[in-house]
Amino acid sequence: MNQPVKITNHLPTAELQALDAAHHMHPFTDNSALAKKGARIMKSAKGVWLTDTEGHKIIDGMAGLWCVNIGYGRKELADAASSQMLELAYYNTFFQTSHIPAIALAAKIAEVAPEGMNHIFFAGSGSEANDTNIRMVRRYWDIKGQPEKRVIIARKNGYHGSTMGGGSLGGMSGIHAHGGKIAGITHIGEPNWWEQGGDMTPEDFGLMRAQELEKAILEIGVENVAAFIGEPIQGAGGVIVPPSTYWPEIQRIVDKYGILLIADEVITGFGRTGNWFGSTTFGIKPHIMTIAKGLSSGYQPIGGSIVCDEVAEVMGSSGDFNHGYTYSGHPVAAAVALENIRIMQDEGIIDHVRNVAHPYLMQKWQGLTEHPMVGEARLVGLMGSIALTPDKASRAKFAAETGTVGYKCRERCFANDLIMRHVGDRMIISPPLVITPEEIDILIERAWKSIDECYTAVK
Ligand code: PLP
Repeated sequence: MNQPVKITNHLPTAELQALDAAHHMHPFTDNSALAKKGARIMKSAKGVWLTDTEGHKIIDGMAGLWCVNIGYGRKELADAASSQMLELAYYNTFFQTSHIPAIALAAKIAEVAPEGMNHIFFAGSGSEANDTNIRMVRRYWDIKGQPEKRVIIARKNGYHGSTMGGGSLGGMSGIHAHGGKIAGITHIGEPNWWEQGGDMTPEDFGLMRAQELEKAILEIGVENVAAFIGEPIQGAGGVIVPPSTYWPEIQRIVDKYGILLIADEVITGFGRTGNWFGSTTFGIKPHIMTIAKGLSSGYQPIGGSIVCDEVAEVMGSSGDFNHGYTYSGHPVAAAVALENIRIMQDEGIIDHVRNVAHPYLMQKWQGLTEHPMVGEARLVGLMGSIALTPDKASRAKFAAETGTVGYKCRERCFANDLIMRHVGDRMIISPPLVITPEEIDILIERAWKSIDECYTAVK
């Protein structure tokens, strides 16, 4: 037995770090390296600003993990949680029961979702929702008398979560290497023109990548294919904005072969791309959309699948769907998500993204390409990336002995009180949607300084 520990808000950082290292296993982290270094410990937050236990004020260019869309510290959400806990802290939605927050939230999501997408199956997270999707599309084809349609086609370097199902849908070899991958999922290439497009135009490359879907369907046999899944913009893969030709061609192929289309909107949903959903931004017509993160602005863990009328009708036509989570539609999470959407609507947060934050950030973000180490800069809504390169014209990669320049740059950002993530040598941002032009100025100033310090170090 360990000694009893009394944690207060006033323990020195070093003691908190020691306890963290001794007992807390962090996700997606080299825990022994972290134990040597000590975690940076966040204490409080307001708007786009985090404060750590050392009193640093850090601008959060990632909205947590792409989720705190309405910004930190909104009392209305705390009040919604507290009154719901007192009213009905928990009840389930299994076995013919329901409750008011789940009903209200489902109806509200149907209101903001694209036309014909009126049904919501709740989960606790994006990964869980994607596990639901695997089972739902397979069950859909069972009911329609085509049980052999089980294969789901996804993309290399896509990210769909890290449960067994979500991790298998994702196309990240590092995830598959730890625990394996379930059967019946195939990956095609990603529409990453900057790194993989060679001499092709972005448009031709986008078409070529989309046509890999048709090739895969023909190879596997359409009679065996249930669905295709993709993020409108790959987020965790590095904010890879597909060429303009990509999604229309995917849509043509999906329509031609009559397979289901799942748009994973866990990041792109709830305003991130300047519309309620990324599918609207890219003109995609999915049968199912995965949601989480911005649904509650990260204030409560909640996710789900928004399902189109036809799929919901089939699913409802043949008895039970033997699937669900204890916390599907959790009343406190649902009440908080509902309040989050109310705030987004009442405060015109998507209009702010479209009319204020995106145009202002776009101009400044593009300005970063004046730096000798910054190649392309992409931004859709408030989701962006820049490519670091030793040579812009050839879109070259850094020499292996230079190490991961993105990681070094991220470390400089951290030291300069800016949270910006890296994926390889791509730096990515996804700030709270409420960010103001003044805050964008600070973000850009710190980003430039960090890139420049990194440039000096690797030159
Ligand atoms: N899908 C996408 C597109 C994501 O970006 C993520 C998380 O980043 C997930 C699914 C998994 O969501 P969660 O971490 O809530 O399980």
